[in-house]
Amino acid sequence: MEMIKDSVVILTGASSGIGEETAKELSSKGAKLVLAARREERLQTLTEEINSNGGQAVYKVTDVASSEQIVELAQYAHETFGQIDVLVNNAGLMPLSLLNKQKVEEWDTMIDVNIKGVLYGINAVLPYMRERKQGHIINLSSVAGHVVFPGSAVYSGTKFAVRAITDGLRMEESPESNIRATIISPGAVSTELTTTITDEDVKGGVDQLYSDAIKPDSIARTIRYAMEEPAEVAVNEIVVRPTSQQ
Ligand code: NDP
Repeated sequence: MEMIKDSVVILTGASSGIGEETAKELSSKGAKLVLAARREERLQTLTEEINSNGGQAVYKVTDVASSEQIVELAQYAHETFGQIDVLVNNAGLMPLSLLNKQKVEEWDTMIDVNIKGVLYGINAVLPYMRERKQGHIINLSSVAGHVVFPGSAVYSGTKFAVRAITDGLRMEESPESNIRATIISPGAVSTELTTTITDEDVKGGVDQLYSDAIKPDSIARTIRYAMEEPAEVAVNEIVVRPTSQQ
């Protein structure tokens, strides 16, 4: 097994939901964590909890829509722990809406966070990983990165893009520098993700879909599994959804 113990993991979107559970799961296996998100209080509380349970975590307030801030995050991780083994690009938003509602600002935010944030993360860690000829980049896509439904055009567009970018990364870097690339595509998971939806016309369908949502610790274990495989094994994509979800 590839050891998670002492691996240095940068985790974005660590302040809630899947990110928070993943931080706890990886810490329980001995990872050294660098936690990032915008809400400092949440990051501070989680970091204190992990460290008081014998784990090793630091945090840095980071907006993933800023390329400079993610470069600083990677520098901070490297200064603190001496290396970067894994980046989990988990930060994301899902303000679903019908296109004719013309929520242009929400489109911009999704593209900035869900697509550009992932690219900026890759940009920030790639030099460190290429230098050591090892590393692992895990990107959160979605079942909505495989299929589109009314209201998900832009969100699905961002999650399709995450899959394309991750596969491109795999093809370029895996043979060249041993860097592994993993797509995690969850179905409905009960987190704060649906709270950004402002279009009343899609809320009903989303509430129905999320009535059977699974807990985020399932996704945390999925991420752990992808990391635990030996270095010569690349887990390229995992889809995890509620058993009842179509
Ligand atoms: P949450 O809303 O609970 O968590 C989202 C996280 O992203 C928060 O920690 C938030 O922190 C962070 N975030 C949002 N914007 C930014 C930003 N600009 N810079 C830094 N961090 C940011 O949702 P989930 O845990 O469910 O979402 C995690 C990932 O999983 C997302 O990429 C989502 O698309 C994906 N996913 C989730 C599914 C679900 O059903 N829940 C299904 C499929 C995929 P803060 O606000 O503090 O910055």
